Amino acid sequence: YIPHVELGSRGKAKINGFFALTTDISDRKAIERMKDEFIAVVSHELRTPLTSLHGSLKLIATGRLGHLSDEGQQMLAVADESTDRLVRLVNNVLDLQRIESGDVTMDHGVCNAADLVEQAAEAMQTMAKQHRIEIQTQLQSLSIWADPDYIVQTLTNLIGNAIKFSAPNKKITLSLQPLKTAPTDQSPEQSSPAALFCVQDHGQGIPTDKLGSIFERFHQVDSSDSRKKGGTGLGLTICRKIIEQHGGTIWAESQLGKGSKFYFTIPLSAN
Ligand code: ADP
Repeated sequence: YIPHVELGSRGKAKINGFFALTTDISDRKAIERMKDEFIAVVSHELRTPLTSLHGSLKLIATGRLGHLSDEGQQMLAVADESTDRLVRLVNNVLDLQRIESGDVTMDHGVCNAADLVEQAAEAMQTMAKQHRIEIQTQLQSLSIWADPDYIVQTLTNLIGNAIKFSAPNKKITLSLQPLKTAPTDQSPEQSSPAALFCVQDHGQGIPTDKLGSIFERFHQVDSSDSRKKGGTGLGLTICRKIIEQHGGTIWAESQLGKGSKFYFTIPLSAN
């Protein structure tokens, strides 16, 4: 509301009335939805040609179709890397869209949180030979109510970032502990016992003013990261959506130049 102000007889401001300014939120939401749908359709349409492009480049790289000059090989490597990035982006956009629209049915059940941490660590250690992924001693056996595949996906995403944003040979630590009452954004009074997962690295860290926004889509501390580190700026948004769908919370703590800790909670199972 904007007050309509007029000067009174003694020069004092007098409020005569109000003009109401309303924005139709439902219109804005509809436009947002159309934008999301448009991006999803385009991404979907891009997937098939991209897959065939990817396959063709890989075939040329084998040398079976003929020998390439050094320059040709270099150009092929650049094309291959760019296609990889596009495939990742398209997959991330589609993943996010499916989770947001509720198109994925998560298969919740009772699972052992420690097993999921071990599974994620093992999967990532085979990929990242230069980093040491350590699991903090004696993970407690905690039963959570979750879709195990999505929890492993969240953990591998966070471990992937820890690897990307820290120097080789730096340690990455995974830990797990019970929380009597987990923080929830929506209803703190209804907080329930949960498992607290943590992925800690000793990498470059994140500036304090960026800690909130990195969970928003396409937010990157350094916009050149998508090129240099092959990121898409969607990984943490996907993690947040997954954790929210589980009734948990995700957040980060960090010290610039020293490293970061990414935490998330998942409710314990009732039985
Ligand atoms: P990206 O694909 O760029 O990694 P994410 O959504 O996973 O996208 O992360 C968003 C941004 O958050 C990253 O580009 C980076 O700037 C920052 N970030 C995420 N994890 C870490 C980390 N462990 N250490 C430092 N910065 C991080």
